[in-house]
Amino acid sequence: FFSSRRRHTRFKCDWSSACALPISRNVKLDPSADLSVIARGTPGFSGAELANLLNEAALLAARQNKKAVTMKELEEARDKVRWGRERRSLAMSDEEKRDTAWHEAGHALVNVLLEHTHPLHKVTIIPRGRALGLTMMLPEKDIHSQRRKNLLDDLAVTMGGRIAEEIVAQDISSGAAGDIQMATQIARAMVCQLGMSDKLGMINYAGESEYFGGREIGRRTDYSEATAREIDDEVKRIIDEAYARAKSIIEANRDKLEAIAKALLEYETLDGAQVEEIVRTEIGRAHV
Ligand code: ZN
Repeated sequence: FFSSRRRHTRFKCDWSSACALPISRNVKLDPSADLSVIARGTPGFSGAELANLLNEAALLAARQNKKAVTMKELEEARDKVRWGRERRSLAMSDEEKRDTAWHEAGHALVNVLLEHTHPLHKVTIIPRGRALGLTMMLPEKDIHSQRRKNLLDDLAVTMGGRIAEEIVAQDISSGAAGDIQMATQIARAMVCQLGMSDKLGMINYAGESEYFGGREIGRRTDYSEATAREIDDEVKRIIDEAYARAKSIIEANRDKLEAIAKALLEYETLDGAQVEEIVRTEIGRAHV
């Protein structure tokens, strides 16, 4: 989930400057359509990818005989370009659906309850691309850099899916592979590139790319085996701590997790405000 968000740190979304004008001239936009919302959901997109997105939205609008592209088509096009085609026809067993609902509810709950995350945009259990479900956050503005507290909260959100699965099924599925890959990338970057490990300090351990004939042929790294072991330990510590944080949040709010999962099974897609409402209502009930 939210994989391209990671590219924030180095790439700026240039929707508003470079590419919007020439494309928008050919595509009529409904006045209510807010391109900035789409731009915030497409960090790191190239001009060509954004052009593709607008094209896709225009096709969707044309197919429904609409005179202009509305927010609905833009969002659908963004999700398609970013994650792949919606696969409503995918035959999922009831068990898979239930596991997916709890998994996504886990991400959504941790997202809403932690302070330094981006606001939850929507969560869905309609399969799309290779994903059985998606939890999507949307930064409030363009993000050019991330603080350590943001990355640590992101890591905890990433862990939330698997933890929720453990609670509902007392077992774990292969559905967290993408989350695990992303968490490893974030933690490794924190240690090796961003100087965010107090233990390993302000040193670049990622190495430098080596080129031959214009192609990257490898990476040169200059550190000892002892340091390699320290890096591995530090990456594992960061991930283990994020896991423990997410687990305690989810265990303390099990009723809310269940309420979100049940709502997902009933409605398939919830927007951020709806999840917030479920969480607040459940909090209110708990205090009565
Ligand atoms: Zn997940």
